[in-house]
Amino acid sequence: MPTERKPESHRLPRTVVPIRYDLRIEPDLSSGVFAGEETIEVTVREPVKEIVLNAAELWIQEVAIRSHEGGTCHGIVAPDRGEERARLLFQDTLRPGPWQLSLKFNGSLSDKLRGFYRSTVKRSPATDPSPPAGGSEEPGTGVLAVTQFEATDARRAFPCWDEPDLKAVFQVTLIVEEGLTAISNARVVGEDRLPGTGKKAVRFAPTIKMPTYLVAFVVGQLESTPETRVGGTPIRIWCVPGKTHLTGFAQQVAAFSLGFFEDYYGMPYPGDKLDLIAIPDFAFGAMENLGAITFRETALLVDERAATHAERERVADVVAHEIAHMWFGDLVTMAWWNGLWLNEAFATFMEMLAVDAWKPEWERWVSFGVSRAAALQVDGLAASRPIEFEVVAPKDAEAMFDVLTYEKGGAVLRMLEQYLGPPRFRDGVRRYLADHQFGNAETTDLWRALGETAGQPIPAVMDDWIFRPGYPMVTIRGDPGGRTLWFSQRRFTYLPGEASVPELWQVPITFRVRTPGGSTSLRLLLSASEQRVDLPEPADCVVANEGGYGFYRVRYAADLLEKLLERPLDLLTPMERFNLVNDGWAATLAGLDPIGAYLDLTSRFREETDPNVWTVLLGSFASLHRVILPGDRRLLENLVRDRLGPAVARLGWDPRPGERDLLRQLRGDVLRGLGTLGNDAAVQMEARDRYARYRDDPSATDPNVVAALIAILAHSGEEGEYTEFLGRFKTAPTPQEEQRYLYALAGFRQAGLLRRTLDLTVSGEVRTQDAPYLVRSLLMNVQARELAWQFVKEHWDSMERRYPQGAFRKMCEGVTALATPELEADVREFFGARDVWLGGRTLEQYLEQLRVAVAFREREAANLTTYLSRF
Ligand SMILES: [Zn+2]
Repeated sequence: MPTERKPESHRLPRTVVPIRYDLRIEPDLSSGVFAGEETIEVTVREPVKEIVLNAAELWIQEVAIRSHEGGTCHGIVAPDRGEERARLLFQDTLRPGPWQLSLKFNGSLSDKLRGFYRSTVKRSPATDPSPPAGGSEEPGTGVLAVTQFEATDARRAFPCWDEPDLKAVFQVTLIVEEGLTAISNARVVGEDRLPGTGKKAVRFAPTIKMPTYLVAFVVGQLESTPETRVGGTPIRIWCVPGKTHLTGFAQQVAAFSLGFFEDYYGMPYPGDKLDLIAIPDFAFGAMENLGAITFRETALLVDERAATHAERERVADVVAHEIAHMWFGDLVTMAWWNGLWLNEAFATFMEMLAVDAWKPEWERWVSFGVSRAAALQVDGLAASRPIEFEVVAPKDAEAMFDVLTYEKGGAVLRMLEQYLGPPRFRDGVRRYLADHQFGNAETTDLWRALGETAGQPIPAVMDDWIFRPGYPMVTIRGDPGGRTLWFSQRRFTYLPGEASVPELWQVPITFRVRTPGGSTSLRLLLSASEQRVDLPEPADCVVANEGGYGFYRVRYAADLLEKLLERPLDLLTPMERFNLVNDGWAATLAGLDPIGAYLDLTSRFREETDPNVWTVLLGSFASLHRVILPGDRRLLENLVRDRLGPAVARLGWDPRPGERDLLRQLRGDVLRGLGTLGNDAAVQMEARDRYARYRDDPSATDPNVVAALIAILAHSGEEGEYTEFLGRFKTAPTPQEEQRYLYALAGFRQAGLLRRTLDLTVSGEVRTQDAPYLVRSLLMNVQARELAWQFVKEHWDSMERRYPQGAFRKMCEGVTALATPELEADVREFFGARDVWLGGRTLEQYLEQLRVAVAFREREAANLTTYLSRF
């Protein structure tokens, strides 16, 4: 018997569904409006007198529907603004079958970097003296009209069924001024001049079946690279005029990635061309619109010779990530927004795989450790969340764009891949894509495909990691004879938890035991709270989480740790050393180990050569700077100099010929650490000299060192440096250089200069895509944080109104650095007095991180004073 289902208020009715959209959109860049017409082939599934679809901030003027037999019905519109819907009401009943729905509508280009929006191009008069054809308010600027639809903003550009499972074919025509370029998802099939209007109609081929959130239009003055072809697919990189010399690197990554994924997925690229487009104002990093991927400029355009390793790695990562989505997300799409995590986690995992294959010497899976560590940090909070949770309203999914989705999700997939073996994992992915191409799928569909190819019950292992928050800390102890090990698990949290029942995971553990005869890798699926392992011969030493892929922390019994540290540390892989430091620091923050033990541990890493291990060490020193009593700051600087000094002495200031990229990066990182956290006067003086030389001859200094020089000069500099950096921010020739100088403005120490930086965040001189991150940097700077917090409180409403939503949320993360009892109390009072929703449990997570830091200070400040007094 059919059961009556309550209509889900957040889902559109399925009585009428779209098959194909013919869209004609005419943006007017100078007046900031657009007009549109669409004809949508729909299937009416049961007799209806109304059609409900999504529309927001659109004015729908004409509604008509034509039946297969030719009869036309006109309709009227009843907008439902709260639900972002329009009800189209007809006098006659529409019979089941195929119909053609035609609508005419108008809208405005947004300034919030979402929907169909405006991006402004700064033009340097030297490179482009001609007035922009795109229309402009001020001389020297041009305008682009760009779309950003994920998650639910397609409805701001055209009335549509704006849900990911209502996939359809899109055939787009853009009416634009003759001098402008128009890009959409598919290739151009025709351009018709419209006589007397100065305009042209650019017609694009029909797309594959895809969801609305992937539709894209980009209109403006743009230049591109020549096509390169991979298989049959032409690839081009697009940018605003004058920047094509920054596209070569992305073009190489894109070409490699496309071939890599076609091979890995065992399936050709699903689009008919691939455009990668740099947009001057962009809320996120990039967006995987099928065939028309949009990027913020720093994630696509780069001068390979002038960029740091980290800056190049970012471009490679983001390009590979978005291209990975062309299959995973675009060809096979999540059925609803609860599946967003899988979409993003998988693209993150594939991004690592592709970049690692492209540049093995970058050791991308080792630097992924930094991302995994960031996820372990948030997931160690009581206010964490499961990777996948029920999403009722699409807005519930907004909080999914976070470290738990991308980094925990990616790390958990890597753990599964290593557990199953990479070829089996790949075969399961191929099967999943083949089974669901052009359609939609759920997380369970991937598990099923992987389980079938691997012959293993995947959900039983994975559900713990996906549907529950947190992760275990695995403790290892052994018998004195070295013949037996006990592995136990409990949830790791920074603050004492109150879980009444023990929470258990199925933990795939790989560990290595070293015996007099050699070393052996062993596996264990830890599912009980404690499990015993008998070893074939007595072990001298045990390394748990071998290779470092597991998403858990390790804690060794004291005797096992001692045995591990007795040996040269380079017997451990970089990832294993990374985890040793990272887990040690977490245990200290959680109050499981005293601060002295951690600081002793750091003394063993003076000879460390891996930049990622140094990232954890430097991160912990920066955290200590935020909690330390002001009177002890000098002593902490002495400790930092003691730890970093040998590395800087060894590496020097200048790269040696043929040196690997990672060592160059390391040099920049430790110099910066010594000049800022270590406040080293000699390094600061040398940095000033070297910056002067760099100004005379930019090619003479390694870019990793240049970035360090700028940070050191900001930390130790004054008005002169500030003016220099502000000027260079405004005239920077590359997106990366612009960012370096911009963020350096948050690194000064004088109140007057910091106030000037704060003013920039609301004056319009810094793009809203960057301003929230600049505010976050100011909150994170110990010398700036009180001023910055005061400023944020005063400008809260206008910041919330102006900044893109996701970036505003990231800005608020800065409060985690306000780690004094007085500031914490003030932060709590501020948020307690107003209704702030940052998505999901984001705000709770920030407040808990702040509590962890302040609790650490209360617990350890005196011990820290004692420990540091010897420096
Ligand atoms: Zn993505």
